[in-house]
Amino acid sequence: MKSVFDFDSRLLDAAAQAEQDASAQFAAIDAVSQHCTAKVLKAFQSQKISAACFAGANGYGYDDIGRDQLDKVWAEVFHTEDALVRHHFVSGTHALSTALFGVLRPGDRLVSVTGSPYDTLEEVIGIRGSGNGSLRDFGVQYGQVDLTAEGLPDYDAIPEAVRGARVVYLQRSRGYSLRPALSVAAIRSIAELTRRVNPDAVIMVDNCYGEFVDYDEPTDAGADLIIGSLIKNPGGGIAETGGYIAGRAALVEQCAYRLTCVGMGKEVGCSLNQCRQMYLGLFMAPEVVANARKTGAFAAALFTRLGFSCLPEPGRTAGDIITVLKLRSPRAMEAFCAGIQAGSPVDSYVTPEAWDMPGYESRVIMAAGTFTGGASIELSADGPMREPYAVYLQGGLTYGSGKLGVLTAAQSMLDAGLLTL
Ligand SMILES: *Cc1c(COP(=O)(O)O)cnc(C)c1O
Repeated sequence: MKSVFDFDSRLLDAAAQAEQDASAQFAAIDAVSQHCTAKVLKAFQSQKISAACFAGANGYGYDDIGRDQLDKVWAEVFHTEDALVRHHFVSGTHALSTALFGVLRPGDRLVSVTGSPYDTLEEVIGIRGSGNGSLRDFGVQYGQVDLTAEGLPDYDAIPEAVRGARVVYLQRSRGYSLRPALSVAAIRSIAELTRRVNPDAVIMVDNCYGEFVDYDEPTDAGADLIIGSLIKNPGGGIAETGGYIAGRAALVEQCAYRLTCVGMGKEVGCSLNQCRQMYLGLFMAPEVVANARKTGAFAAALFTRLGFSCLPEPGRTAGDIITVLKLRSPRAMEAFCAGIQAGSPVDSYVTPEAWDMPGYESRVIMAAGTFTGGASIELSADGPMREPYAVYLQGGLTYGSGKLGVLTAAQSMLDAGLLTL
């Protein structure tokens, strides 16, 4: 490595120590990956996946075998009745929006029990922006249970708040916040609390960044519907676009009616030439998620040694693939992101700048030198330019390249005089 890249030798010493600090975590990550790989492999076998599933269909997509079998594989992996896995979802937000509009009706109440939802969902719900076309515009009421000061669910407040709610909404990942990711155990507790006062509520989980991080998924813990993006964890870095919704069959059908048309639902929407990538991506996903998690664990160990506070703290289990590095200044964020970009395989020669991204409230800086545009299962770093100037690091298709990217970011900060060794 030293003979290829010119890193400061003291930085390489710190990196070697950081890797040792993280060794127990690496072993735990591998154990989860092995279990999730088994789930995926078993589903491919029991659904009899063959090369015929990879051939694309066009036109209306009636009897599109690849598409229909992929839904079944997905449902088996996530232990659900049905799934809707489609390249037609343009992003995770689109899949989440489809699920919300699919299930909610005028007069219904949606209650988020994990504080404010991910930035882009605020406009969908109608709590930010003009509200035009939002759930609020269609007469859906919104309530929210804020997290405690420690960033944990407020279990005391949840039962009263979810009484009468049609959808009880949870976000598994920390998103752009400093709160910890929700563990599957916490999701189980919330589901049980909810069922006690509101047995008919639809428990919906934004599963973005959470797939294959734990032995179980939210659907093993009482969730009725999970939603995620294929350019994050379950696409394994191979799926080119898309999202998924999985859960109870009647709810998945409502979502399919929203995605396509009432009456047509899941039976239309051709897979074009996307199937092979979606199958291969799902097959790779547990291992790719492990590589991303190791990259994050390494970064937390290294930057802790370099004097920065990181979340989750080194040695603590993460419930998603995100590692937060509190870099304390806008300049440090820029230098770090410039380094992640420079350490990427694609677009390594450009310098990221903060910009007003659609759907986000603050200016956001993003480093992503990715094969798939915006794919955050690939090594990427981003963050809103606001206190506490924290960078959210995620992804890393391979651990070796993820580690080199993190080292390039540290070297960039060192060169800018923003790091002392
Ligand atoms: C990524 C993400 C989303 C959806 O974002 P898109 O960029 O639209 O895919 C929603 N919630 C969380 C927690 C996310 O991480």
